[in-house]
Amino acid sequence: MERVYNFSAGPSILPEEVLKIAQRDMLSYGNTGMSVMEMSHRSKYYEEIINTAEKLLRDLMSIPDNYKVLFLQGGASSQFSMVALNLMNKNNRADYVITGAWASKACSEAGRYGKINIVASSEDKTFSYIPELDKSKFDPKADYFHITTNNTIYGTRYTEIPDTGSVPIVADMSSNILSEDYDITKFGLIYAGAQKNMGPAGVTVVIIREDLIGNAMGLTPKMLNYKTHADNGSMFNTPPTYSIYVCKLVFEHLLKLGGVSAIQKINEEKAGMLYNYLDESDMFKGTVAKKDRSLMNIPFITGDKELDAKFIKEAEANGFVNLKGHRSVGGMRASIYNAMPIEGVKKFVEFMKTFEAKN
Ligand code: PMP
Repeated sequence: MERVYNFSAGPSILPEEVLKIAQRDMLSYGNTGMSVMEMSHRSKYYEEIINTAEKLLRDLMSIPDNYKVLFLQGGASSQFSMVALNLMNKNNRADYVITGAWASKACSEAGRYGKINIVASSEDKTFSYIPELDKSKFDPKADYFHITTNNTIYGTRYTEIPDTGSVPIVADMSSNILSEDYDITKFGLIYAGAQKNMGPAGVTVVIIREDLIGNAMGLTPKMLNYKTHADNGSMFNTPPTYSIYVCKLVFEHLLKLGGVSAIQKINEEKAGMLYNYLDESDMFKGTVAKKDRSLMNIPFITGDKELDAKFIKEAEANGFVNLKGHRSVGGMRASIYNAMPIEGVKKFVEFMKTFEAKN
C-alpha cells in the first residue's frame, strides 16, 4: 500500500529516508551480519551508535559540555516522578504551571514527594492558552520550576521561557523537542519521549545540568537516579538499543536538512499554511489563543460533531489519517511534526478547502 499522510500525535510519522535506511540495515548493519536489534549493547558497533547519537543531538541542540545527555526508558511519564525524586532535594518544594493533562500529571506525581506550588493554570478555558506568569506567585524557595513547552493535546506552546532567576527550569519537551531553537542554558533539565520528533517509542532523552545530578532523595530507586545513568553513559543496564539507533538516523537526517533552525523555518511555514486557512475558513476554526499556537499540534473544529466525523472519515479515505482530536477536546487535531513534509500539509489544506466547498 502507498504511504499515507499520518497526522498522529504520537507515536507518529518518521522521515521516509530514515525508514529506508533502517530497512536497508535490517538484516545486516554494515559488515556485522546482524541487525542492530540483535547486537550486544556492549559491542564496539553499538557503542559507536549510541556515542554518535549523543554527539549529533549535542550538535543539533548546541548542548553545552556541563550538561549530560541520557537515554532512558519508562517514557516521559517516568520523568514526572524521577524529576521530583532527584531535584526536590533542598527545600522539598517545586513550582508547576498547569497547561494541560501532561503538566497536571507531572504535578500530581511530584506532589507525592514534596510541596507543590501551582504558579498558574489555564484549566478554566480547557487549556486553550498559556497563562500569564505573575512573578509574585513564584516560590523563591522552589527547588525547580516545571513547564511543558508544548501541549500535545490542546495545541499550545510557550513562545517565551519564563525568567525564574536561580531556580532551575525543568521542561517537558516531549512534543516539540528539535522543532525550534532553544537556548539550553535557560534550562536545568529537559526531558522528552522520543516517539514524536525523534524516533520510535521506548527511549526518553534527558538533558540535565551536571550540578543537578547526585542529590537524589534517599528512597530513590537506583534505576530512577540520574547519577546511575550519568555515571554509566546510559549503559547501567541494557538501553533501548534499536530506538536509540533510529533516533541517530533521525538526527543525521535533521543535520542534513540544515539543523534545528532550518527545520524551525519549515515548521513555521507548515503551521502557517494551516492556521491561515483556519483563520479564513467559514467552516473550520482553531481552538486556541492565537499568540500561543503550537507549531506541532493543531486542533480545530467545525462546531458540528456530525460534520467533524464526516470530515475525519473522508480525510482518511483520501490518505490523511489519525486526525481525530483527543477525547478530552473532540474535533480534529493535525499533528505536523518535523517529519511531516510540506507537501503533506499543502495537500491537506487543499483537501479541507474542497471539503468546505462541497459541504
Ligand atoms: N508529556 C507530553 C507533553 C506528552 O505529549 C506525552 C505523550 N503524549 C507525555 C508526556 C507522556 O509520554 P510517555 O507516553 O512517553 O510517557
